[in-house]
Amino acid sequence: MANIYVHVPFCRTFCKYCGFYSELSGRNGTAVAGYVKSLEYEIRERRDSCTDAMHTASCDTLYFGGGTPSLLSPEEVCSIASAIGKRFGIDSFDEFTLEANPDDIAGTSSCNGYLSSLRSAGVNRLSLGIQSFDDARLKFMNRRHDAAEAVAAFEAARNAGFDNISCDLIFGYGGLSLEGWKADINELLALKPEHVSCYQMSIERGSALEKLASSGRYSPLPDDECADQYALLQSMLAAAGYEQYEVSNFALPGFRSRHNSSYWERTPYVGFGPAAHSFDGACIRRWNLPDLSRYDRCYPGSGKCFCQEELTGDDVFNEQVMLSLRRVTGLDPQALDKERLSMERPDLDRLLDTGLLEYVPGTGMRMVRIPASKLFVSDSIIEELFV
Ligand code: SF4
Repeated sequence: MANIYVHVPFCRTFCKYCGFYSELSGRNGTAVAGYVKSLEYEIRERRDSCTDAMHTASCDTLYFGGGTPSLLSPEEVCSIASAIGKRFGIDSFDEFTLEANPDDIAGTSSCNGYLSSLRSAGVNRLSLGIQSFDDARLKFMNRRHDAAEAVAAFEAARNAGFDNISCDLIFGYGGLSLEGWKADINELLALKPEHVSCYQMSIERGSALEKLASSGRYSPLPDDECADQYALLQSMLAAAGYEQYEVSNFALPGFRSRHNSSYWERTPYVGFGPAAHSFDGACIRRWNLPDLSRYDRCYPGSGKCFCQEELTGDDVFNEQVMLSLRRVTGLDPQALDKERLSMERPDLDRLLDTGLLEYVPGTGMRMVRIPASKLFVSDSIIEELFV
C-alpha cells in the first residue's frame, strides 16, 4: 500500500494557535493559480525513491490537507487529482479526503454546487475543521466560522451525499471548562460524524498564541484539567459507539482513516506541495521546504526546494515504537531490531509491571499497548523505550 498527500498552503486568515506553514490568500487568488501550476509540474516531473515507491505499491488513498484545501475550486481539485492519477496510473481512489473549513462551505451561496462538484471530482471523504461549537471560543481561536456555520456546513455536506465525514475539535486550552467541553462533545455527537479527531491545544512556535503566552496574556490549562477533558472525551465517544484507534482519533466501525493509518504503519507515501513530507517505506524521508515562492521557482525551473534524510537504525527503532504505541493495535516487539530490543527490554518489562503498558487481549501476549486510561500521557511512556 502507498498513499498520496497534497499540501495546500493557503488560508484566508490565521488561527491563533496554528503553527502550520501557510500563506494568506482568498479563493481563486493569483497565488493559488500559480501554485496549482507548480504543483502539477512537481507531480509530473519529480523522480526520487519516494515517488518510485508509488509505482511498486498499490496506492489507494489521496488526501488534500493544509492550509485550507477548500480554497481550491472543484476544477482545481479535479485537475490535480487527474495529474496524480495519470502519473501513477490510478483510475480512482478508494479514500479521497479533502480538509474543509466550515466558512468555505456554509458561507457561500453556491455551497451545494461546490460540494456536489467536489464529489464529482472524486472526493468521497470530507474533514471539517469545526474546533468548537461555542461562538466566543471560536472567536478566541480566530476561526472564521461560528457555531451555526459549522452545523450548516456539516448538514450541507450530508445533503450533498458525503457519507464519510470527519470533524476536528480542540480541547485543553485556557478558558475551556469541563462543562464547556462536554457541551462541545454533545453538539458533535448530535451531528453523528463517522470520524472524530480531537487535539489538545499546544503553544506552537510562531503562532499568535505563543506571543500572547510570552507576554502573559494567555495561560494554558493545567495538565490535570486537560487530562480530565481527554478522559471525558474518551468516555462520551465510547458510549456513542466510536472506537478509539489512535491517541487523537476515533471512528464508527469501518470508518478509520486509511490515509492516516498508513503514516502510523510506515507504508510509503508521497507528499506534493510546499511543506509536504514523503517516505519511501524504508529509510528515506524527504520534505519540501515551507516556502511557496521558492517552490514556484523550483517547479518548473531550477534550484532545490526540498530536504532529505536517511534514517539510522536507531531512528527506525524509535519511529516503530512511537507510531505503534500511539495506536490501540499496539506494538509487536518481535518486529523490532533484536539488539536494540534487548537494550530496551528492562524498560519494557518495567512498563508492563507498572501498568503503563499492557498486553493486547487476544494476541497471546505478543502485542503490547498503552492502556486507554494512560493514552493522555503516551508521549512520556513512549520516550522511555527510545534508544
Ligand atoms: S488551523 Fe487551518 S485554517 Fe487555521 S491557520 Fe492553521 S492551517 Fe489555516
